[in-house]
Amino acid sequence: MPVSAEVTKPSKVAAKPGVMKANVFRAPGKFGLEEKPIPTAGFGEAIVKVRLTTVCGTDIHIIRGEYPVAPGLTIGHEAVGVIHELGPGLTGYEIGQRVLVGAITPCGQCEPCLSGQLSQCGGALGGWRFGNTIDGVQAEYVKVPFAQANLAVVPEGLSDEAVLLLADIASTGFSAAESGRVRLGDSVAIFAQGPIGLCATLGAKLMGAGKIFAVDTDSNRLKMSTQFGATTTLLDGQNPIEAIRDATGGRGVDVAIEALGLQQTFENALRVLRPGGTLSSVGVYSGHLQIPLDAFGAGLSDHKIVTTLCPGGKERMYRLMRLVEAHRIDLTPLLTHTFTLDQIGEAYELFGSRKDDVLKVTVRVA
Ligand SMILES: [Zn+2]
Ligand SMILES: [Zn+2]
Repeated sequence: MPVSAEVTKPSKVAAKPGVMKANVFRAPGKFGLEEKPIPTAGFGEAIVKVRLTTVCGTDIHIIRGEYPVAPGLTIGHEAVGVIHELGPGLTGYEIGQRVLVGAITPCGQCEPCLSGQLSQCGGALGGWRFGNTIDGVQAEYVKVPFAQANLAVVPEGLSDEAVLLLADIASTGFSAAESGRVRLGDSVAIFAQGPIGLCATLGAKLMGAGKIFAVDTDSNRLKMSTQFGATTTLLDGQNPIEAIRDATGGRGVDVAIEALGLQQTFENALRVLRPGGTLSSVGVYSGHLQIPLDAFGAGLSDHKIVTTLCPGGKERMYRLMRLVEAHRIDLTPLLTHTFTLDQIGEAYELFGSRKDDVLKVTVRVA
């Protein structure tokens, strides 16, 4: 369905004191800017005035009704902004500081958090709150829960654009390579080169992979793959499995990364994997996922299958910002189109359509 079918006209939303504009999900295919009260901070919470946000593939699933969220929820989970209000219980922060807000906001105190599973805070997928279980960041202001654990102050020299994608897709993409435990000289294949797949490609490079095979159906995206570290690019549909097997002497790759969430790409990842290799999956699947037993050695080929939700917490964001500061990574080539908050319907339409070689859209709020 067209994603902008019933977007509220921005002109209907006037600015009033104490009121802000927010991009609200109403029903499948129906979303748009609405007025909401500017939130206030309770204990351990901070209010951030959003400067820059973006649209994630997950948001597209939400507005199409493919991932259920409550009607009335503000969508969005990636933002750079400035601290507007600090609730009691926070230390080391000041009003006006520019901060990166992570997509995943763990409490840092529950059993999963203290066991190192920050993204699963409080229970399955529980660390993902923004635009899922609480109001998200596609708004003029957002309330950040557990702010002490989740606000990372942005170094002065780094632009909003330079750090925005660290909140989610870059962190998720890199984690695909990290969870796959890529070792120096490994051969790695990445299936799908959307924004997350491209970041997984860059992650494999950062982890020291030798051969990096990037597979996609879109030749334009494959050009970006080379820029992000792929040593070989393969158009899906031209038998990438055989090409990757040939290029590895018939052995297969050490790590295969699935970055789309489809049966076909999952299966392809398994089919290029060496015995004992790791399939690292960061795609979001809908419907059934089946394991082809021939490629799985009937369950005897010592394959490991690992999945990763975006890592949470401010320390992760500080780590990634250090990579930007040291010029080890530059994610700005992924930001292909820019919109304002009033144009957010157009941003969704373009991003959802994948037209005009779009990779990521930015939405400038303030
Ligand atoms: Zn996301
Ligand atoms: Zn927790």
